[in-house]
Amino acid sequence: MFFRRKNNLDGLDLMILGGGSAAFAAAIRASELGARVALAEEGLIGGTCVNRGCLPTKNLLHAAERYHQYARNSFPGLPAGREQARFREVIRQKDELVEHSRKSKYWDILEAYPGIQYYPHRARFLSPHEVEVDGKVIRAGRFILATGASPAPLPIEGMDRVDSLTYQEALELQEPPASLVVIGGGPIGLELGQFFARFGCRVTILEALPHIAPNEEEEISTLLEGYLREEGIEILTGARVQRVGRRDGQVVILAEAGGQKREFLAEKLLLAAGLKPNTAGLGLEAAGVEVDRRGAVVVDATLRTTARQIWAAGDVTGQLMLVTVAAHQGIVATENALRKKGRRAEEISRIPHAIFTSPQVASVGLKEKEARERGLKVKATAVPFEWVPKAAAMRDPRGLIKLVAEEGSYRILGVHLLCHEAADLIMLGTLAVRHGLTVGDLIRSLFVYPTLSEAYKLAALAFKKDITRLSCCAE
Ligand code: NAD
Repeated sequence: MFFRRKNNLDGLDLMILGGGSAAFAAAIRASELGARVALAEEGLIGGTCVNRGCLPTKNLLHAAERYHQYARNSFPGLPAGREQARFREVIRQKDELVEHSRKSKYWDILEAYPGIQYYPHRARFLSPHEVEVDGKVIRAGRFILATGASPAPLPIEGMDRVDSLTYQEALELQEPPASLVVIGGGPIGLELGQFFARFGCRVTILEALPHIAPNEEEEISTLLEGYLREEGIEILTGARVQRVGRRDGQVVILAEAGGQKREFLAEKLLLAAGLKPNTAGLGLEAAGVEVDRRGAVVVDATLRTTARQIWAAGDVTGQLMLVTVAAHQGIVATENALRKKGRRAEEISRIPHAIFTSPQVASVGLKEKEARERGLKVKATAVPFEWVPKAAAMRDPRGLIKLVAEEGSYRILGVHLLCHEAADLIMLGTLAVRHGLTVGDLIRSLFVYPTLSEAYKLAALAFKKDITRLSCCAE
C-alpha cells in the first residue's frame, strides 16, 4: 500500500505534470499501488520518445541503412540497386508507425488503467499543493514533474533571422534537402546527419569540441568520424559558429575552425546542440521547486525536489536524457512519493546508452580517463573488429571494443563499443558492470561462434595475450 495524506482525502494522491515516458511509467505504478492519480499533458500524448525521438528516428535510420546497403552494396558478387528512394513514402510509413505506437502504448494504456485521469492541458503550480489545469484548480497530496526537454536555442548572431530546423522539424521534411549544415555532433546531429546523407543530401556537421560524439572514448569518436567521412559527410571539429544569415535563398553559416574562417551554404540548417529542460512557465517558484542554471529541476538521489511533496523524473532533471532513464525515474519517484521508501535512482554509471549511427556506438560504465580521474588504477584493452571472425564473415570489419578493468582485481569498470548492433551487444557489458564481473569471467565463458559478441572474449583475452595469434575460439 501507499501513504495517503490525511488532509487530502477529497483530492488526488498524485498529480503528474507531463505525459511522456516518465509520466506514464509513474502513472501506471501509482495506479498499481491503488492511488488516485492524474496527469496533464498539453502536447501530444506520449512525449518525445514515441512522437519525435527514439521510435521515429530508429525507424528512419533503419530505412536509411537498408537503402544504403541496396544502393552502395559492397559485398562482392552482389549487385547494387539503382532505383531512387521514394522519400515521402518512407516518411509516411514512419508517421503511421508513430500513430500506431502512440495509440497502443499511450491511449490504450489509459483505457487499461481507468483510474488514471488524463487532462490534455498544460498544468501550472499555484502553490506547493495545487496546480491550475484548464482554468480548474486541482489539489493533490504529491506531485511529479515530468515535463521533458526541448531543443536549446543557440545564442548565435543572426539565428533569429534564419529558419533553422529542430530535430522534430527535420523528421517532418517530405523531401531530403539538397544540402544540410548540422550544428552539433552529438547523438542527434550524427544520427540525423547520416540519415539525410544516405538519402543523397550533402551534409556538413559542425562540432564545437575536438571530437564528434564527445562523451565517448576518444578512439571510438575518431574511428566513427572516419567512417562518416568515408560516406561523404563533411565534419569540422573545434568549430566556432560565428554568424548565420541568408543569401540567394540559402542559409549561410560563418564558422571558424583551426584558425581559418569558412562560409558554408546550405538549403537547410539543423540545430542539434543539446536540449533544455522544460521548466519555464510551470509556476515552480510558487511551488518552491528550485532549478539549476541550465533550468533543470534540482533533485536529490531519491528524485525529490527542493519542495517536500514534489518529485521529478526524466529529461526535466537534466540528467542522462534517455527514455529508459525517464521511465525508471518515473517509477522510482512514484514509489518514493507514495510509499516513503527513499529508493535511490539507478547510478548513471550503470546505465547503457547508444548512438544509432551505422556502425552504432554503445557504452556503459567508466571510460578509461574517467576511471583514472576517480583515482582508480586501471588497465584497458582495445580490439578492432577486424579480429572478430563474425565481422570478417559479414565483410564489415569496422569498429572497436574497449574494455576498462580495475588493475589487480580485473573487475570490469566500463565497456565501449563501435560496431554493427552495438546497442544490442552492450547489454552483456551492462550486466558485467552492474554485477561486478571480471575479465576472467568473460574468458571462462564459452561464446557462440561466430558472433559479434565474441568481441568481449577477445578483448578480455587481450589483457593476457596477443589475440592476433589465436586460432578460432582458442583461449
Ligand atoms: P548533446 O548535448 O548530446 O550534443 C550536442 C553537441 O553539440 C555536443 O557535442 C556539443 O559540443 C555541440 N555543440 C553545442 N553547441 C555548439 C555550437 N554552438 N557549435 C557547434 N557545436 C555545438 O545533444 P543532442 O545530440 O542534441 O542530444 C540531446 C539529448 O538527447 C542528449 O542527452 C542525448 O543523449 C539524447 N539523445 C539520445 C539518443 C540516443 O540514445 N541514441 C539519440 C538522440 C538524442
